Amino acid sequence: MNNSPRAANGRAPDVFRPGGWIPMRCHDDEDEVDFAIVGTGAGGGTLACKLAEAGFSVVAFDAGPFWRPLEDFASDEYHQQKLYWLGERITGGDDPVQLGSNNSGRSVGGSTVHFQMVSLRFGPDRFKARSRLGYAVDWPIEPEEMWHYYDLTEDALKIAGPVSYPWGPPRRRYPYRQHELNAAGLVLARGCEALGIKWAATPIATLSAPRGKSPPCVYRGFCKFGCSTNAKQSALITWIPWAIKAGAEIRDLAMVGRIEVGRRDGKVTALHYHRQGEWRRQRAKNIVVAGYAIETPRLLLNSACPQFPDGLANSSGMVGKFFMVQSNHAVYGTFDEEIRWYKAPPSLAITEHWNYTQTGKDFPGGYAYMSQGPLPIEWADTVTGQRGLWGIELRHEMAKYNHQAGLKIVGEVLPQEKNRVELTDETDDLGLPIPRIVFAYGEEDRKLYQHAIRFMSAALDAAGGKDLWSAEDTAHLGGTCRMGTDPANSVTNADGRCWDIANLWICDGSLFPTVAGVNPSLTIQALAWRIADRIRDLARRGEL
Ligand SMILES: Cc1cc2nc3c(=O)[nH]c(=O)nc-3n(C[C@H](O)[C@H](O)[C@H](O)COP(=O)(O)OP(=O)(O)OC[C@H]3O[C@@H](n4cnc5c(N)ncnc54)[C@H](O)[C@@H]3O)c2cc1C
Ligand code: SF4
Repeated sequence: MNNSPRAANGRAPDVFRPGGWIPMRCHDDEDEVDFAIVGTGAGGGTLACKLAEAGFSVVAFDAGPFWRPLEDFASDEYHQQKLYWLGERITGGDDPVQLGSNNSGRSVGGSTVHFQMVSLRFGPDRFKARSRLGYAVDWPIEPEEMWHYYDLTEDALKIAGPVSYPWGPPRRRYPYRQHELNAAGLVLARGCEALGIKWAATPIATLSAPRGKSPPCVYRGFCKFGCSTNAKQSALITWIPWAIKAGAEIRDLAMVGRIEVGRRDGKVTALHYHRQGEWRRQRAKNIVVAGYAIETPRLLLNSACPQFPDGLANSSGMVGKFFMVQSNHAVYGTFDEEIRWYKAPPSLAITEHWNYTQTGKDFPGGYAYMSQGPLPIEWADTVTGQRGLWGIELRHEMAKYNHQAGLKIVGEVLPQEKNRVELTDETDDLGLPIPRIVFAYGEEDRKLYQHAIRFMSAALDAAGGKDLWSAEDTAHLGGTCRMGTDPANSVTNADGRCWDIANLWICDGSLFPTVAGVNPSLTIQALAWRIADRIRDLARRGEL
């Protein structure tokens, strides 16, 4: 693929047909559209769809390309690096976060194009961590409301999960039946049963039965590198085509560098974006930033202007602050029997025991852990990076690949103001300041992942694993533009509307006040759907 945008001149790629096109409504830069959205991932893609369906004129920009999975994705770990956000970023602090493939994507559909599809709900109490559990902060939204939007989102994406999920309040069954467990998932199940805790098939956003033009999953295991069959229900093949059908325009290969503020009323008026070698300016009545937890604060800070010298929406000083990851520590072991853990989506079995149990813990947050299935290059990277194995030792270790299994957490990391995203004086190819990400675990975070390593080691041992060892990692991003009820310590209200600028909105993982111990994308999509409904209601009341 060359560097020419595909979505232009009244048409966009048809993600279901090699070489195919679908019609797309297009706007001129001079058209003052109702909403210009920066980013088309879990947050931006969902919002573009729902706002267009509500009748708003929408243009959504993405810095990355518009892929057709059936022709552009290869079952090749190296080739698929093209899905990642690999722009330069500086990482610092006591526990520097690994960037790149590990945390963000750069294409229409965002990080959901290479995510692992695990689709979990926050436990209701986690939305009220301060008032119900005594740590961190509350979300400004009631859990019951989020659970309503979880219902809608799971149904829209046809999440495949168990008839009866063992954790949380009663809920209706998942729309598609659960996937059959692979051998790696059965290892998790054995370990849980030996230790007397519940386990389940993981709710996951890949199909267990045909849906429209998407076939069911064929269990080849390339999910983290882009699903080439379209079984995975990423934003690229769900919200984006639905958004276009409802009248939204998507602009691919369009990097937004700055948001402009009007001189008179302090409202945003346009955004400046780079496409096909030139800077252009799109007018808009409202602008939504949905670039995820690094690029969203980067854009707001870089849009500083005489009216807002510290960056947009930043009168509280909170833009870029309270950056969070999730701890992603693992325990691995070797088994006598063949496991072939590369087969099928990587995390087919889960336990959320430590998200819902408050006894036997020396930390306030929660974690889930899941079965694993790294592909060979990824596994070799882990083994060399974490254990320093090279040469013949590495060859011997890799020879055991088909006999290995592992368990990995998604662990809650608590919000700390000193963990942050900020701008540096260095600039990228487009002249935009490069972000620095500063991160250090707190004491409670360390206690959580140490607890998890001990528990998972016991589980893997009980399941028959030998030569156990543990590895460090982080996953997912959150925070940096937290929502709240007080303009003094948050960036937006519960609708993602910036306190300082009424027609500037945020709609992505950067809104999270806390990250809980579950993967974030279902919550980001449910939140985006809620924000779209709130915007529609505000418009009806003349309060937009
Ligand atoms: C390897 C991996 C596995 C994961 N697995 C899971 C999982 O199993 N379950 C789960 O829930 N979550 C998972 N996640 C996390 C999940 O994918 C993200 O949390 C989610 O996609 C974030 O949504 P978002 O809308 O905030 O940002 P994204 O989905 O990342 O979308 C942001 C988009 O904005 C674009 N953008 C940013 N800045 C600009 C700009 N200035 N101009 C134009 N475009 C811009 C980017 O190109 C990108 O496409 C995984 C992530 C990774 C990396
Ligand atoms: S295992 Fe399923 S979801 Fe993963 S890449 Fe293959 S078909 Fe897609």
